Amino acid sequence: MIQRVIRRAILLAICWLIVRTWAVDGLGIPLVISSGSMAPTLLGPHRDAVCADCGLHYTLDSVSNTFRNVAVCPHCGIPNALDNLPELDGEHVLVDRAAFLWRSPRRWEVVAFRSPVDARMICVKRVVGLPGEEVQIRDGDIYINGQLQRKTLKHDIYYTWPTGVEARWGCDRPFRLGADEYFVLGDNSSISDDSRTWSGGAGVPSSLLYGRPFLVHFHARSYQCFGGFFTIPDITQIRLIR
Ligand SMILES: [Zn+2]
Repeated sequence: MIQRVIRRAILLAICWLIVRTWAVDGLGIPLVISSGSMAPTLLGPHRDAVCADCGLHYTLDSVSNTFRNVAVCPHCGIPNALDNLPELDGEHVLVDRAAFLWRSPRRWEVVAFRSPVDARMICVKRVVGLPGEEVQIRDGDIYINGQLQRKTLKHDIYYTWPTGVEARWGCDRPFRLGADEYFVLGDNSSISDDSRTWSGGAGVPSSLLYGRPFLVHFHARSYQCFGGFFTIPDITQIRLIR
């Protein structure tokens, strides 16, 4: 009897390890979005504001338009002070590790990969250029082999050249990807560190692909009551990543 229980426990542990390593990442140790480079698709550390005038709850990601510690309410335009608002965790995502075992990433798909600059770091960006293609960013759009690519996205993205750092690849002239490389960009183009800026080259080789982030399963929200802030998960923000 005890032997059978132990055997089942070991079997379960092995199954869990397989799932954890090969199928879905982010179940055991959370995968947390740590920057605003994919906002508004994925939020990094953020703050929740409540409008003092109309009572609207709104989220400020790390790159929202805040000025002198005030945030303008998107509903009524009243400036609200940001003082003392706690900074909340970035969103937690689940990654399908097996997604690219059977097929290649597609254009406009969100992918996770090991950073070509530091392989210990897992990055999340959107694929805009596929192997062998010639990529250029022009007037907010992506041109592949000289052809404008229509975006099929939930949020419109205006792709810029990087600000504050050198525009190395795919900006003033087209960049030709290698036979096994992808060109990836953050949705929050003005602050994203991505294929445009890496010193070693623009392409992400397929060997660095980590999986496909498919679900935001945790979004922290803060509520003020009894003079303090309480953080709770916001289940209305659970969503598929597109
Ligand atoms: Zn308001």
